[in-house]
Amino acid sequence: MAGIYLHIPFCSSICQYCDFFVTTKRDFQMQEKYVAAILEEISFYANPQLEIKTIYFGGGTPSLLKIEFLAKVLEEIYKNFKVTFEPEITIEVNPKEVTLQDFLVYKKLGINRLSIGTQSFEENELKFLTRLHSSNDAIKCFTEARKAGFQNVSLDLIFGLQNQTLESWAKSLEKTVELNPEHISLYGLTFYEGTKFTRKLEKGKIQKLPEETELEFYLKAIEVLTKNGFEHYEVSSFAKPNFYSKHNSSYWNHTEYLGVGASAHSFFAGKRFWNFANLEKYFESVLKFGNGIEEEEKITTETLELEKLMLGLRQKKGVNWNDLELLKQIPKDFYTIEKNNLRLTSKGFAMYDSIAEKLASYL
Ligand code: SF4
Repeated sequence: MAGIYLHIPFCSSICQYCDFFVTTKRDFQMQEKYVAAILEEISFYANPQLEIKTIYFGGGTPSLLKIEFLAKVLEEIYKNFKVTFEPEITIEVNPKEVTLQDFLVYKKLGINRLSIGTQSFEENELKFLTRLHSSNDAIKCFTEARKAGFQNVSLDLIFGLQNQTLESWAKSLEKTVELNPEHISLYGLTFYEGTKFTRKLEKGKIQKLPEETELEFYLKAIEVLTKNGFEHYEVSSFAKPNFYSKHNSSYWNHTEYLGVGASAHSFFAGKRFWNFANLEKYFESVLKFGNGIEEEEKITTETLELEKLMLGLRQKKGVNWNDLELLKQIPKDFYTIEKNNLRLTSKGFAMYDSIAEKLASYL
Protein backbone atom coordinates (compact mmCIF):
# COMPACT_ATOMS: atom_id res chain seq x y z
CA MET A 1 0.00 0.00 0.00
CA ALA A 2 1.36 3.43 -0.84
CA GLY A 3 0.48 7.06 -1.45
CA ILE A 4 1.48 9.46 -4.19
CA TYR A 5 2.35 13.10 -3.55
CA LEU A 6 2.42 15.47 -6.54
CA HIS A 7 4.16 18.78 -6.06
CA ILE A 8 2.58 21.57 -8.13
CA PRO A 9 4.81 24.62 -7.58
CA PHE A 10 2.70 27.32 -9.23
CA CYS A 11 1.65 30.34 -7.15
CA SER A 12 0.15 33.72 -8.09
CA SER A 13 2.60 35.48 -5.81
CA ILE A 14 5.04 34.33 -3.17
CA CYS A 15 3.95 34.76 0.44
CA GLN A 16 6.80 36.23 2.42
CA TYR A 17 6.91 33.49 5.05
CA CYS A 18 6.82 30.56 2.63
CA ASP A 19 9.78 28.23 2.13
CA PHE A 20 8.18 25.68 -0.20
CA PHE A 21 9.55 25.28 -3.68
CA VAL A 22 7.28 27.59 -5.72
CA THR A 23 7.34 29.64 -8.90
CA THR A 24 5.16 32.41 -10.28
CA LYS A 25 5.93 31.26 -13.85
CA ARG A 26 2.72 29.46 -14.57
CA ASP A 27 1.65 30.18 -18.16
CA PHE A 28 0.21 27.44 -20.35
CA GLN A 29 3.60 26.41 -21.83
CA MET A 30 5.17 26.11 -18.40
CA GLN A 31 2.26 24.05 -17.08
CA GLU A 32 2.40 21.83 -20.16
CA LYS A 33 6.13 21.23 -19.77
CA TYR A 34 5.84 20.60 -16.05
CA VAL A 35 2.97 18.15 -16.41
CA ALA A 36 4.83 16.30 -19.19
CA ALA A 37 7.71 15.81 -16.73
CA ILE A 38 5.33 14.61 -14.01
CA LEU A 39 3.73 12.10 -16.40
CA GLU A 40 7.19 10.86 -17.30
CA GLU A 41 8.02 10.34 -13.62
CA ILE A 42 4.73 8.51 -12.99
CA SER A 43 5.44 6.08 -15.81
CA PHE A 44 9.01 5.68 -14.53
CA TYR A 45 7.64 4.33 -11.24
CA ALA A 46 4.88 2.30 -12.96
CA ASN A 47 3.89 -0.83 -11.08
CA PRO A 48 0.45 -2.32 -11.73
CA GLN A 49 0.78 -4.39 -8.54
CA LEU A 50 1.42 -1.41 -6.29
CA GLU A 51 -1.74 -0.44 -4.46
CA ILE A 52 -2.26 3.31 -4.21
CA LYS A 53 -4.53 4.37 -1.42
CA THR A 54 -4.02 8.13 -1.32
CA ILE A 55 -3.19 10.80 -3.90
CA TYR A 56 -2.25 14.30 -2.76
CA PHE A 57 -1.83 17.41 -4.94
CA GLY A 58 0.25 19.80 -2.84
CA GLY A 59 2.24 22.88 -3.59
CA GLY A 60 2.44 25.60 -4.41
CA THR A 61 -1.15 26.14 -5.39
CA PRO A 62 -2.30 23.04 -7.26
CA SER A 63 -5.68 24.64 -7.94
CA LEU A 64 -3.84 26.89 -10.43
CA LEU A 65 -3.17 23.83 -12.55
CA LYS A 66 -5.45 23.74 -15.58
CA ILE A 67 -8.17 21.11 -15.24
CA GLU A 68 -7.05 19.29 -18.41
CA PHE A 69 -3.60 18.79 -16.85
CA LEU A 70 -5.04 17.65 -13.55
CA ALA A 71 -7.14 15.10 -15.41
CA LYS A 72 -4.10 13.86 -17.36
CA VAL A 73 -2.09 13.34 -14.18
CA LEU A 74 -4.88 11.35 -12.53
CA GLU A 75 -5.39 9.30 -15.66
CA GLU A 76 -1.68 8.46 -15.76
CA ILE A 77 -1.72 7.35 -12.11
CA TYR A 78 -4.70 5.05 -12.75
CA LYS A 79 -2.97 3.68 -15.85
CA ASN A 80 0.29 2.86 -14.07
CA PHE A 81 -0.76 1.68 -10.62
CA LYS A 82 -3.45 -0.32 -8.92
CA VAL A 83 -5.48 2.46 -7.36
CA THR A 84 -7.71 1.14 -4.57
CA PHE A 85 -11.48 1.52 -4.57
CA GLU A 86 -12.37 5.04 -3.37
CA PRO A 87 -8.86 6.37 -2.71
CA GLU A 88 -8.47 9.57 -0.73
CA ILE A 89 -7.64 12.24 -3.33
CA THR A 90 -6.77 15.65 -1.91
CA ILE A 91 -6.04 18.95 -3.60
CA GLU A 92 -4.76 22.08 -1.87
CA VAL A 93 -6.61 25.22 -2.96
CA ASN A 94 -6.34 28.91 -2.16
CA PRO A 95 -9.38 31.11 -1.54
CA LYS A 96 -10.10 33.53 -4.40
CA GLU A 97 -8.15 31.33 -6.82
CA VAL A 98 -10.69 28.58 -7.28
CA THR A 99 -14.34 28.72 -8.39
CA LEU A 100 -17.49 26.71 -7.76
CA GLN A 101 -17.12 25.45 -11.32
CA ASP A 102 -13.61 24.15 -10.52
CA PHE A 103 -14.94 22.36 -7.44
CA LEU A 104 -17.66 20.68 -9.51
CA VAL A 105 -15.07 19.44 -12.00
CA TYR A 106 -12.77 18.26 -9.19
CA LYS A 107 -15.63 16.13 -7.91
CA LYS A 108 -16.13 14.61 -11.34
CA LEU A 109 -12.43 13.79 -11.48
CA GLY A 110 -12.77 11.82 -8.25
CA ILE A 111 -11.11 14.36 -5.97
CA ASN A 112 -12.85 13.93 -2.61
CA ARG A 113 -10.86 16.02 -0.16
CA LEU A 114 -9.92 19.72 -0.13
CA SER A 115 -7.30 21.50 1.88
CA ILE A 116 -8.03 25.24 1.90
CA GLY A 117 -5.25 27.71 2.71
CA THR A 118 -7.37 29.97 4.91
CA GLN A 119 -4.59 30.81 7.45
CA SER A 120 -6.61 33.40 9.40
CA PHE A 121 -10.01 35.10 9.40
CA GLU A 122 -8.59 38.48 10.48
CA GLU A 123 -7.89 40.97 7.68
CA ASN A 124 -4.80 42.55 9.25
CA GLU A 125 -3.26 39.12 9.83
CA LEU A 126 -3.88 38.05 6.24
CA LYS A 127 -2.27 41.29 5.08
CA PHE A 128 0.70 40.73 7.37
CA LEU A 129 1.11 37.25 5.88
CA THR A 130 0.97 38.82 2.39
CA ARG A 131 -1.88 36.53 1.45
CA LEU A 132 -3.92 37.54 -1.60
CA HIS A 133 -7.32 36.72 -0.16
CA SER A 134 -9.63 38.24 2.43
CA SER A 135 -11.54 36.56 5.23
CA ASN A 136 -14.72 36.74 3.13
CA ASP A 137 -12.93 35.05 0.22
CA ALA A 138 -12.04 32.18 2.53
CA ILE A 139 -15.64 31.87 3.76
CA LYS A 140 -16.91 31.98 0.17
CA CYS A 141 -14.41 29.33 -0.86
CA PHE A 142 -15.52 27.01 1.94
CA THR A 143 -19.22 27.62 1.21
CA GLU A 144 -18.74 26.86 -2.47
CA ALA A 145 -16.82 23.69 -1.64
CA ARG A 146 -19.84 22.55 0.37
CA LYS A 147 -22.17 23.58 -2.45
CA ALA A 148 -20.20 21.39 -4.80
CA GLY A 149 -20.70 18.50 -2.38
CA PHE A 150 -17.31 18.24 -0.66
CA GLN A 151 -17.80 16.45 2.66
CA ASN A 152 -14.14 16.27 3.62
CA VAL A 153 -12.59 19.70 3.88
CA SER A 154 -9.54 20.81 5.82
CA LEU A 155 -8.69 24.39 6.76
CA ASP A 156 -5.17 25.70 7.50
CA LEU A 157 -4.57 28.22 10.28
CA ILE A 158 -1.39 30.03 11.32
CA PHE A 159 -0.66 31.38 14.77
CA GLY A 160 2.20 33.31 16.34
CA LEU A 161 1.95 36.41 14.14
CA GLN A 162 3.17 39.85 15.10
CA ASN A 163 0.22 41.83 16.51
CA GLN A 164 -1.89 38.69 16.79
CA THR A 165 -3.63 38.65 20.15
CA LEU A 166 -5.25 35.86 22.08
CA GLU A 167 -8.57 37.55 21.23
CA SER A 168 -7.93 37.76 17.49
CA TRP A 169 -6.67 34.16 17.48
CA ALA A 170 -9.79 33.06 19.35
CA LYS A 171 -11.91 34.83 16.72
CA SER A 172 -10.23 32.89 13.90
CA LEU A 173 -10.75 29.67 15.82
CA GLU A 174 -14.40 30.50 16.46
CA LYS A 175 -14.99 31.30 12.80
CA THR A 176 -13.37 27.99 11.88
CA VAL A 177 -15.56 26.08 14.32
CA GLU A 178 -18.61 27.89 12.96
CA LEU A 179 -17.79 26.79 9.41
CA ASN A 180 -17.50 23.25 10.77
CA PRO A 181 -14.87 21.65 8.51
CA GLU A 182 -13.88 18.01 8.99
CA HIS A 183 -10.20 18.75 9.51
CA ILE A 184 -7.94 21.59 10.68
CA SER A 185 -4.17 21.93 10.31
CA LEU A 186 -2.47 24.41 12.64
CA TYR A 187 0.91 25.92 12.03
CA GLY A 188 3.01 28.15 14.24
CA LEU A 189 4.69 30.84 12.13
CA THR A 190 8.24 29.69 11.43
CA PHE A 191 11.03 31.92 10.18
CA TYR A 192 12.74 29.74 7.58
CA GLU A 193 16.15 30.58 6.23
CA GLY A 194 16.07 32.48 2.95
CA THR A 195 12.51 33.83 3.26
CA LYS A 196 11.62 37.53 3.12
CA PHE A 197 10.18 37.29 6.61
CA THR A 198 13.49 36.09 8.00
CA ARG A 199 15.33 38.96 6.33
CA LYS A 200 12.77 41.39 7.76
CA LEU A 201 13.19 39.81 11.19
CA GLU A 202 16.97 40.16 10.99
CA LYS A 203 16.61 43.82 10.05
CA GLY A 204 14.20 44.37 12.94
CA LYS A 205 11.33 45.23 10.60
CA ILE A 206 9.09 42.57 12.08
CA GLN A 207 9.05 40.85 15.44
CA LYS A 208 8.78 37.28 16.59
CA LEU A 209 6.34 36.55 19.40
CA PRO A 210 7.77 35.26 22.69
CA GLU A 211 7.63 31.47 23.04
CA GLU A 212 5.28 31.69 26.05
CA THR A 213 2.75 33.61 23.94
CA GLU A 214 2.97 31.04 21.16
CA LEU A 215 2.42 28.29 23.70
CA GLU A 216 -0.64 30.15 24.98
CA PHE A 217 -2.04 30.33 21.41
CA TYR A 218 -1.41 26.65 20.82
CA LEU A 219 -3.07 25.60 24.06
CA LYS A 220 -6.00 27.91 23.32
CA ALA A 221 -6.47 26.18 19.96
CA ILE A 222 -6.44 22.76 21.61
CA GLU A 223 -9.00 23.93 24.16
CA VAL A 224 -11.40 25.48 21.62
CA LEU A 225 -11.13 22.75 19.00
CA THR A 226 -11.36 19.72 21.29
CA LYS A 227 -14.32 21.34 23.07
CA ASN A 228 -16.02 21.50 19.70
CA GLY A 229 -15.65 17.86 18.73
CA PHE A 230 -12.27 17.85 16.99
CA GLU A 231 -9.80 15.14 17.95
CA HIS A 232 -6.25 16.36 18.40
CA TYR A 233 -4.77 13.36 16.61
CA GLU A 234 -1.35 14.73 15.70
CA VAL A 235 0.83 17.65 16.86
CA SER A 236 -0.60 20.01 14.20
CA SER A 237 -3.76 18.21 13.14
CA PHE A 238 -7.33 18.12 14.39
CA ALA A 239 -10.17 16.14 12.88
CA LYS A 240 -13.75 15.09 13.39
CA PRO A 241 -13.96 11.33 14.10
CA ASN A 242 -13.15 9.29 10.97
CA PHE A 243 -11.69 12.29 9.15
CA TYR A 244 -7.99 11.96 9.94
CA SER A 245 -5.95 12.78 6.84
CA LYS A 246 -5.21 9.33 5.42
CA HIS A 247 -2.39 10.67 3.29
CA ASN A 248 -0.60 12.49 6.08
CA SER A 249 -1.25 9.64 8.52
CA SER A 250 0.62 7.37 6.14
CA TYR A 251 3.70 9.65 6.51
CA TRP A 252 3.44 9.35 10.28
CA ASN A 253 2.85 5.61 10.15
CA HIS A 254 5.79 4.87 7.90
CA THR A 255 3.71 3.78 4.91
CA GLU A 256 5.59 4.07 1.63
CA TYR A 257 4.93 7.04 -0.61
CA LEU A 258 6.20 8.31 -3.91
CA GLY A 259 6.80 12.02 -4.43
CA VAL A 260 6.55 13.34 -7.97
CA GLY A 261 7.45 16.83 -9.21
CA ALA A 262 10.21 19.31 -8.36
CA SER A 263 11.33 19.16 -4.71
CA ALA A 264 9.05 16.20 -3.89
CA HIS A 265 10.29 13.67 -1.32
CA SER A 266 9.73 9.91 -1.37
CA PHE A 267 10.00 7.07 1.12
CA PHE A 268 10.07 3.92 -0.89
CA ALA A 269 11.76 0.52 -1.04
CA GLY A 270 13.80 1.18 2.11
CA LYS A 271 15.12 4.51 0.88
CA ARG A 272 14.35 8.17 1.18
CA PHE A 273 14.97 10.24 -1.93
CA TRP A 274 14.13 13.72 -3.04
CA ASN A 275 13.83 15.59 -6.32
CA PHE A 276 15.65 18.71 -7.46
CA ALA A 277 14.10 21.89 -6.08
CA ASN A 278 15.04 23.73 -9.25
CA LEU A 279 12.98 23.62 -12.42
CA GLU A 280 15.82 23.48 -14.94
CA LYS A 281 17.66 20.73 -13.06
CA TYR A 282 14.41 18.86 -12.51
CA PHE A 283 13.49 18.96 -16.22
CA GLU A 284 17.00 17.93 -17.23
CA SER A 285 17.00 14.99 -14.83
CA VAL A 286 13.57 13.75 -15.97
CA LEU A 287 14.69 14.01 -19.59
CA LYS A 288 17.87 12.01 -18.92
CA PHE A 289 16.75 9.47 -16.34
CA GLY A 290 12.94 9.53 -16.28
CA ASN A 291 12.92 10.80 -12.69
CA GLY A 292 13.83 14.04 -10.92
CA ILE A 293 15.91 12.52 -8.11
CA GLU A 294 18.68 14.73 -6.74
CA GLU A 295 19.79 12.51 -3.88
CA GLU A 296 18.87 9.38 -1.98
CA GLU A 297 19.53 8.00 1.43
CA LYS A 298 19.38 4.36 2.50
CA ILE A 299 17.66 3.95 5.83
CA THR A 300 19.42 1.82 8.43
CA THR A 301 17.42 -0.25 10.90
CA GLU A 302 18.44 2.13 13.71
CA THR A 303 17.28 5.20 11.77
CA LEU A 304 14.02 3.48 10.99
CA GLU A 305 13.44 2.66 14.65
CA LEU A 306 14.27 6.22 15.68
CA GLU A 307 11.94 7.62 13.03
CA LYS A 308 9.15 5.30 14.16
CA LEU A 309 9.56 6.56 17.69
CA MET A 310 9.54 10.23 16.65
CA LEU A 311 6.60 9.81 14.29
CA GLY A 312 4.68 7.82 16.90
CA LEU A 313 5.20 10.58 19.45
CA ARG A 314 3.66 13.10 17.02
CA GLN A 315 0.40 11.20 17.21
CA LYS A 316 -2.34 10.88 19.77
CA LYS A 317 -2.00 7.10 19.71
CA GLY A 318 1.54 7.45 21.10
CA VAL A 319 4.22 4.75 21.19
CA ASN A 320 4.73 1.47 22.93
CA TRP A 321 7.54 2.30 25.22
CA ASN A 322 8.91 1.66 28.65
CA ASP A 323 12.59 2.55 28.48
CA LEU A 324 13.26 4.31 31.76
CA GLU A 325 16.55 5.82 30.70
CA LEU A 326 14.92 7.40 27.68
CA LEU A 327 11.99 8.62 29.71
CA LYS A 328 14.35 10.67 31.82
CA GLN A 329 14.90 12.82 28.73
CA ILE A 330 11.30 14.02 28.76
CA PRO A 331 9.94 16.23 31.56
CA LYS A 332 7.21 14.40 33.52
CA ASP A 333 4.29 16.73 32.71
CA PHE A 334 4.93 16.30 28.98
CA TYR A 335 3.68 12.70 28.80
CA THR A 336 1.37 10.07 30.26
CA ILE A 337 1.93 6.32 30.33
CA GLU A 338 -0.77 3.70 30.31
CA LYS A 339 0.15 0.01 29.94
CA ASN A 340 3.51 0.84 28.29
CA ASN A 341 1.81 3.24 25.89
CA LEU A 342 3.43 6.65 26.06
CA ARG A 343 1.53 9.65 24.79
CA LEU A 344 2.51 13.29 24.83
CA THR A 345 0.20 15.66 26.69
CA SER A 346 -0.94 18.96 25.11
CA LYS A 347 2.10 20.64 26.64
CA GLY A 348 4.27 17.80 25.33
CA PHE A 349 2.83 18.28 21.82
CA ALA A 350 3.67 21.98 22.10
CA MET A 351 7.27 21.06 22.94
CA TYR A 352 7.47 18.24 20.38
CA ASP A 353 10.37 19.73 18.40
CA SER A 354 12.63 20.12 21.41
CA ILE A 355 11.65 16.68 22.78
CA ALA A 356 12.43 15.09 19.40
CA GLU A 357 15.77 16.89 19.24
CA LYS A 358 16.70 15.76 22.73
CA LEU A 359 15.74 12.14 22.09
CA ALA A 360 17.52 12.07 18.74
CA SER A 361 20.79 13.29 20.28
CA TYR A 362 20.45 10.87 23.21
CA LEU A 363 19.77 7.90 20.96
S1 SF4 B 1 0.26 30.32 -1.62
FE1 SF4 B 1 1.10 28.73 -0.26
S2 SF4 B 1 2.70 27.73 -1.43
FE2 SF4 B 1 2.22 29.65 -2.50
S3 SF4 B 1 3.69 31.09 -1.71
FE3 SF4 B 1 1.86 31.30 -0.44
S4 SF4 B 1 2.21 29.89 1.28
FE4 SF4 B 1 3.68 29.35 -0.32
